[in-house]
Amino acid sequence: MKPFPPAALAFGGDYNPEQWPESTWTEDVELMREAGVTLVTLGVFSWAWLEPTEGEYDFDWLDRVIDLLHGAGISVDLATATASPPPWFSRAYPDSLPETADGRTMWPGSRQAYCPSSPDYRRAATALVERIAERYGEHPAVVLWHVNNEYGCHVSHCWCDRSAVEFRRWLRDRYGSLDRLNEAWGTAFWSQRYGDWEEVLPPRLTPSFGNPTQALDFDRFSSDELLACYRAERDVLLRHSPDVPVTTNLMVAKFKGLDYWSWAPELDVVSNDHYLRGEDPLGHVDLALAADLTRSLAGGDPWLLMESSTSAVNWQPRNIAKVPGQLRRNTFAHVARGSEGAMFFQWRASAAGAEKFHAGMVPHAGTDSRVWREVCLLGADLGRVAEIRGSVVQPDVALLWDWQSWWAVEQQAHPTGDLDYIEQVRSYHAALWRLGLTTDLARPSADLSRYRFVAVPSLYLVSDASAENLGSFVAGGGTLLVGPFSGIVDESLRIRLGGYPGAFRDLLGVRVEEFSPLPASGSVRLSDGKVGRIWSEHAHLTGAESLASYSSGPLAGSPALTRRSVGDGQAWYLGTCLDDASLQALLREVTTVAGCRPPVPAHDGVEVVRRDGAEASYLFVLNHTADPAVVPARGRELLGEADVDGALTVPPGGVAVVREHR
Ligand SMILES: [Zn+2]
Repeated sequence: MKPFPPAALAFGGDYNPEQWPESTWTEDVELMREAGVTLVTLGVFSWAWLEPTEGEYDFDWLDRVIDLLHGAGISVDLATATASPPPWFSRAYPDSLPETADGRTMWPGSRQAYCPSSPDYRRAATALVERIAERYGEHPAVVLWHVNNEYGCHVSHCWCDRSAVEFRRWLRDRYGSLDRLNEAWGTAFWSQRYGDWEEVLPPRLTPSFGNPTQALDFDRFSSDELLACYRAERDVLLRHSPDVPVTTNLMVAKFKGLDYWSWAPELDVVSNDHYLRGEDPLGHVDLALAADLTRSLAGGDPWLLMESSTSAVNWQPRNIAKVPGQLRRNTFAHVARGSEGAMFFQWRASAAGAEKFHAGMVPHAGTDSRVWREVCLLGADLGRVAEIRGSVVQPDVALLWDWQSWWAVEQQAHPTGDLDYIEQVRSYHAALWRLGLTTDLARPSADLSRYRFVAVPSLYLVSDASAENLGSFVAGGGTLLVGPFSGIVDESLRIRLGGYPGAFRDLLGVRVEEFSPLPASGSVRLSDGKVGRIWSEHAHLTGAESLASYSSGPLAGSPALTRRSVGDGQAWYLGTCLDDASLQALLREVTTVAGCRPPVPAHDGVEVVRRDGAEASYLFVLNHTADPAVVPARGRELLGEADVDGALTVPPGGVAVVREHR
């Protein structure tokens, strides 16, 4: 991995000087120095300024901005500016506009109005990147390349004729022959058998349920197609600027469109954009999930929070301002979980355009404002903890996470529409968060040997190899917990016959003969007092012991929670979705059995995460409650610059970072 960041924790944001008169730029740089800004992202939406007409470039203004920043000691994350083609491009190449599944064109006028398979878009985008990389590839201020922006945010799939051609090419590569495609897609059903490749289409609007494997393959193709766009730009940058690391800003954890497991290895630095749902009282727990997933995509290495908001955003139904102290707490939550700093959208809140009500580091009100004062305090705080750079978070707990299974499990015509993938993972992650345990997210094929406990909240689709991988984890002494409707289908969505949960039947020692989803808002009580929701099923023991069964109704006596010992390991199975209290009780029990320990004993509403470095370890304490929190710690508290000898008191809503005595 190429070194990043070069000198300090990253602190700054998207800087869009083209929105302001040049007279503002000098003041911008003075204010950046006042706030402690170390890095800005330039040029994300500058295509129309850099190439005002086709093939004619204007870099003079960008030269002046970069030199101004460099003179002030501020580094640049330089964008390739390809996320929003200018109006001249769409006019010259109308075939590049994306189409929806029902054949409507998405017109220019907002952003991202391009088909990922458009050869005209690829050619124009890489031509622009060529010029940018030639000009700035060796500029000392440029420490990071920022390819495009939030790939797939608005157009993750395109159903146009050009995309249909590329989809067929992708399918030929995958299957080799139409016979194999027909077999994989199960086209014997509903008279769908294909006799010619030209008959194969993207999954456009159909009278009834479309072919599920066609839809899943289109999801796979669409992720690959945007990744090809990224690679094309990245390869240009590598030629001109081989020593500068490359990133593109991802959108974990709620973005379903791209299989980021296949993207992450292509990035030198994994970076993420994260925005709270302002009305969600547990937004900070969601934040932790996003940060944990981003760190996991980075393979445990440090990563970068590329975008967040200093206060309200502009795209939710009600855009709630952050309360005093929340900016600091939210930022340090990302840093605690591995981010090498914090960047924001954007430096100066826009005076015009679709995002003018999105908060900035410099708000509309100017510097006589709470937001500006908190931004300056945050810059100083990040300066005080700069020594944490390069330290890592090393959990011994993991949840399996898989985009392809997510795409598959939420398809139509399934036993229930209530199994929401994110909700399932989030419920497990939140319960572990409340237990004080930091959690990795792992792909099903990952080496799991470093973990004591692995949970599988939902894994409808699993390959034979990944199922064997989980078996090896248990055989090696690990503790596994598998949730319902997992192991059901293979990569072509064919049912694994002979009883559910197909791929995990032998490992878990359970055979399920029939699903019995619950009515809306229904629940089912278990014999140990736990409460199930959404799902139940008729199961038999084939090697496991029953720990709890359904206590009433048609499934009374059928096992609901089981355990099978395998050498030193254990394979637990849960055949329902537990309510929050029941799930937390189960996870407390099973993680205790597995020997997992939080950094300090769990304390309601107090988040504690440890980063380990070569010279020292750092304990991050975030108090999300309205009361002071007392946490056992010894060392030097870096934000308040005070020694801690046994007990650290963190004020309500406060943050502490302790360099621990070894
Ligand atoms: Zn298209």
